[in-house]
Amino acid sequence: MGCLLDPPLGAGDLVLSDFDGTISLHDTGLEMMTRLNLEAAWELEDRWRGGEIGSAECLAGQWAMVTLPEAELLALLDDLPLDPDFPAFVQLCRERGADLAVLSDGLDLYVNRMLARLGLRTCFRPEKLPPLSECVATYANHGEWTPQGVRVSFAGDARECDACGNCKSAWLRVLRPGHRRVIYLGDGYSDMCVARHVEVRFAKGHLAEFCDQQGLAYHPLGSFAEVIEAVS
Ligand SMILES: [Mg+2]
Ligand SMILES: [Zn+2]
Repeated sequence: MGCLLDPPLGAGDLVLSDFDGTISLHDTGLEMMTRLNLEAAWELEDRWRGGEIGSAECLAGQWAMVTLPEAELLALLDDLPLDPDFPAFVQLCRERGADLAVLSDGLDLYVNRMLARLGLRTCFRPEKLPPLSECVATYANHGEWTPQGVRVSFAGDARECDACGNCKSAWLRVLRPGHRRVIYLGDGYSDMCVARHVEVRFAKGHLAEFCDQQGLAYHPLGSFAEVIEAVS
């Protein structure tokens, strides 16, 4: 494919990656709803996608329906497949001096656990990005297992638009200073808010459709093996 970036990935770049369906191969929330047969959760999903409710209300409602014993929940999470080449992409960013953060409108409960499964150390919602040699910074909603279902709480300062629980545009504003270019990777509804504010997009799925509709240029997002090739 060759490099799609001019200049190629390097110092001064900030790479922001979605988690669900981008680093994880499936959307974790949707996978829960499917595997646990949560009909009512799909109704919330449709209302959110239709713009009727915000993702905070949607997420909190859906995860409250996940009432598995903790060990079963964790076993289910550990069974969900991840892109095996994401760590190599982190390594590439590190070598090139680019910054990287994971932005998710999902939950730290699984984002950090699943990244650990890939051998990556994470730090949660740091105000300043630490070097990648220390950890991969993740910005997500907070989820906690309780016997009555998973309880979700939201970062106060990331509630700036009605559509998002964890507004990725708000995090972009926090993380952008000092960077000359922002490269965004994503696949879904929670990426639409931030997508118009970045310089380079890699998109697939609903995000790609959205970019088409809005006339936003993007590169097709494939696996991280392909992303590595595309930015090198
Ligand atoms: Mg996604
Ligand atoms: Zn937003």
